Amino acid sequence: SDAKINIVEAPAGLEGQGFFATSLDSLVGMARANSLWPLPFATSCCGIEFMSTMASHYDIGRFGAERLSFSARQADVLMVMGTIAKKMAPVVKQVYLQMAEPRWVLSVGACACSGGIFDTYSVLQGIDRIIPVDVYVPGCPPRPEQILDGFMQIQELAKNESIRRRNQPEYKALLESYGIE
Ligand code: SF4
Repeated sequence: SDAKINIVEAPAGLEGQGFFATSLDSLVGMARANSLWPLPFATSCCGIEFMSTMASHYDIGRFGAERLSFSARQADVLMVMGTIAKKMAPVVKQVYLQMAEPRWVLSVGACACSGGIFDTYSVLQGIDRIIPVDVYVPGCPPRPEQILDGFMQIQELAKNESIRRRNQPEYKALLESYGIE
């Protein structure tokens, strides 16, 4: 065809230094980190703290995360908040598997992190027994400020996602250790 393609050349001095690739990475990372869609998997009291985190006083919308996604396929961050019974564990894993990469997991509260006070036959002793967790928020329950702090740590990971794990063998090995391909 007669169509002409204009090729913009890199300014002298920037060629060969990965300037454009790294700048694009950081731009995508910044956009991604400030528009994360959480999927709140709330089963008990910690979920109440999340409601407060969503509401106007703490306002998670300041971080671009007010759009909750109850469809795993449109969610970026799985926020597990509350006691996870062993019967519920396969559901948590299924939701995680339905999420597209890049995806992150925030474990909120003692129950999600370790089973909490429910050291009993019926309660999962931490969601990291079934899925990889990126950030743990301790507390029973954690205050909304702590949940926001955990979310901000996820934002930091999102900003550096391409450097952190895209195609990295360590990440693939981690998923394989959970039986996830
Ligand atoms: Fe409830 Fe405490 Fe467990 Fe949170 S960590 S779900 S507040 S018992």
